Parts: sequence; structure tokens; C-alpha cells
Amino acid sequence: MKIAVLALQGAFIEHRRMLERIGVETFEVRNPRDWSHPKDGLILPGGESTVQARLLHELDLFEPLRREAADGLPVFGTCAGLILLSTMHLGVMNIEVARNAYGRQSGSFRTTGPMEQVGDMVPMTFIRAPYIMRPTTPDVQVLARVDGRIVAARQHHLLVTAFHPELDDDLRIHRLFLDIVRRYSKQCPAQQQAMSGTTASNVRHDSKQCPARHVV
Ligand code: GLN
Repeated sequence: MKIAVLALQGAFIEHRRMLERIGVETFEVRNPRDWSHPKDGLILPGGESTVQARLLHELDLFEPLRREAADGLPVFGTCAGLILLSTMHLGVMNIEVARNAYGRQSGSFRTTGPMEQVGDMVPMTFIRAPYIMRPTTPDVQVLARVDGRIVAARQHHLLVTAFHPELDDDLRIHRLFLDIVRRYSKQCPAQQQAMSGTTASNVRHDSKQCPARHVV
């Protein structure tokens, strides 16, 4: 398994370290040549979403990235990464978000709370954080709320947190993402077509049934 980490700006090294601790290989994406390497998933780190979006356009990465994410590439977006995936930029995840929504000071704080599919006492570090105002389709699962606001969600192969799990010592959210990658990674399209009961175009295949790697 190989996970691409967008490395234009922001907290990308911290994500790489988390995945390395789990023993998963990562590589940095800064240009279309990097992007062309085989990958099973992508992490969009925190930082400044307006800067990252501008750079994605300037570097001709916006459209290739949007296309693959829309086509089922598993993506984990944290904070600015959440904003990039939302209707505000890439538009692949059906969530409307509010940026810097807590005001300058209160947007940076730490708490712990439960997160569905992860467990209890999850550390949550918010830095000038956004929140999800509303999912626009029913297939978006709300995974966590803080003070009533949605701060983590999933839509099939897409996972987002408004906070920064890469800045804490808890690997559970990265492990959840890797479970999603295993479930959706696009390795053998022939078997994918053969799968019965597959209705959504973004449902890839069960990688356990894949004998060989085949990255499209
Ligand atoms: N406020 C930033 C933005 O709007 C996000 C902050 C973060 O990623 N920590 O992009």
C-alpha cells in the first residue's frame, strides 16, 4: 500500500510520520509527475485552503486530483483538506463548510470526544478550524460533533476531520483511513465489474480478493 500526501503547504510531514509509525509507505505530491505515481489513497493536509487551492490550479493538479477523488480514490482531508474536498473547491464531497468559523481565537483549541467508527476519547486539536454546516446528500455520515457542530464525516471513500489528528499521538483515525483504503483501493477493475450488488460508481472493490496490483 502506498499513500500520496499533498505537500504544497501545511502539515504534510506530520501525516507522513503517522503513517510511517503504522508501517505504511508514503510519498509527497508537488507536481503532476509525482501525482502520476501509483497510489492507493491521498491525504490532503491542513494549512491554508485558499493558498493550497491556488497552487493546485497553478500546478495543474486541481483537475487530475478532482477526477481521481470523484472516481473513488480514497482521500483523507484534515482541516484545510476538508475545505478543499467540500463544495467550496474540489466539490467531490457533498458537504458545505464554514471557514474560520469560530473566530480568530476560539478557532484554536483542544478537546477530546467520541468519534463514530473510531472510539471514545479521541484527541481533537483545532487550529483556525472550519466546521461542516451541512451535508448535502444523505450518504454523508456524521462521525463527530463538538458543541453541536459537525467536525468529522465520511462519504464512502472520503474521510474528513476539521481537527488535526496528525498533531496528536493517537493513530486510530489514520487506521480508519487505511481501512477505507483497503476497502476501496482500485487495484483490479475486472473483479470490480464482476462484483455483484455494486451500485455506486465510487464503490471500488474488496482488495482482499485481488490477486495482483493494478493501478489505473
Ligand atoms: N483556516 C484555514 C483555512 O481556511 C484552515 C486551518 C487549518 O488547516 N488548520 O484554510
